[in-house]
Amino acid sequence: MAAKQETVVSNTSGKPPASKDFVINLDVGDPTMYESFWKGMGDQGAITIPSSQTISYFSDVTNFCWFLEPEFAREIRRLHKLVGNAVTEDRHLIIGTGSSQLLQAAVYALSPSDTPDQMNVVSVVPYYSSYAPLMDYLQSGLFRWAGDACTFKGDAYIELVCSPSNPDGFLRQAFLKSEGGKTIHDLAYYWPQYTPITSPADHDISIFTISKSIGHAGSRLGWALVKDAAVARKMTKFIELSTIGVSKVSQIRATKILKVVSDSYEHPIPGNPDKLFDFGRRLLVNRWKKLREAVKASGIFSLPEFPSETCKFTGEKAETLPAFAWLKCEKEGIEDCASFLRTHKILTRGGSYFGASPNYTRVSMIDRDETFDLFTERLSSLH
Ligand code: PMP
Repeated sequence: MAAKQETVVSNTSGKPPASKDFVINLDVGDPTMYESFWKGMGDQGAITIPSSQTISYFSDVTNFCWFLEPEFAREIRRLHKLVGNAVTEDRHLIIGTGSSQLLQAAVYALSPSDTPDQMNVVSVVPYYSSYAPLMDYLQSGLFRWAGDACTFKGDAYIELVCSPSNPDGFLRQAFLKSEGGKTIHDLAYYWPQYTPITSPADHDISIFTISKSIGHAGSRLGWALVKDAAVARKMTKFIELSTIGVSKVSQIRATKILKVVSDSYEHPIPGNPDKLFDFGRRLLVNRWKKLREAVKASGIFSLPEFPSETCKFTGEKAETLPAFAWLKCEKEGIEDCASFLRTHKILTRGGSYFGASPNYTRVSMIDRDETFDLFTERLSSLH
């Protein structure tokens, strides 16, 4: 089965040439859409860190997660409370170098070390393309990637539930229901710019990332909300063993930007330029409209349709506006949608990376305006 990890190759900033030869790269989910928001915030997100502040490995020796900066923890809980997308009371909070590290920490924590068999890690097709390589690249004796949850038989499993799903944008629940099975919820996209917030998530393990919530992927931070103390301790141990904690500089920077986001909703300043989730939603409404028009004009593709629901964060009826478009090529004779687009110099991630048919391909919706506009123009000209 083909597997692909997010590789860090992206379009550069600045206006790309409109020529047909320009390669449009929408393969990676690089959240550069948020760059213009943070530019517009000017100095509001700026910080100065005295050089003496980041000497020690430790952030809080009274906390089991001793590398977590207390103020960062406070701002994470505050943002969840504001948005209403996760229960944080009585939950253990652990941070990682991106949610990628936390996914590995969670699988490590849930895999027993006293049995000869490896734990099977599964997810429903189409699953996030990094899951397979993340589970198998070190060839662990504790766990192994076992593919599609829908065809899995047995009790010893960990199901990764990505909701809203990368790549197709739909909300998901655990598929497998065995008592012996475990679940990890990857909620990277459970934020109001992408989907209506209908209730606070309350799972055994919920994993979030700063990359897709507010766009600071380069800060490499994620966090997990965990119910069970023993699991939380084991996850913390994994991070201690692999990287001896998480960058303090990143945490201090992220604390400030989370504060800017929450303050803009809780204490709005008159005349203040914008609010992050409103900005994200506005851009995605516009982009999904343009993409649906381009798909219609071309006549050879189709896109999923999503229901609208009332978002408890905004109080308004809202459409689902995923961070990725799961594009299907409907034209007879074209079996591989990504290869077809590549011949037109549009790079996307083919369905087989997600365990699905190559008729599908995933297109990032969160790149810069210029790249996205070129993409829709080019797509609508393909017949
Ligand atoms: N889970 C999902 C579903 C994702 O799409 C991503 C980023 N592409 C990640 C996890 C990893 O995010 P990061 O390591 O940047 O926090």
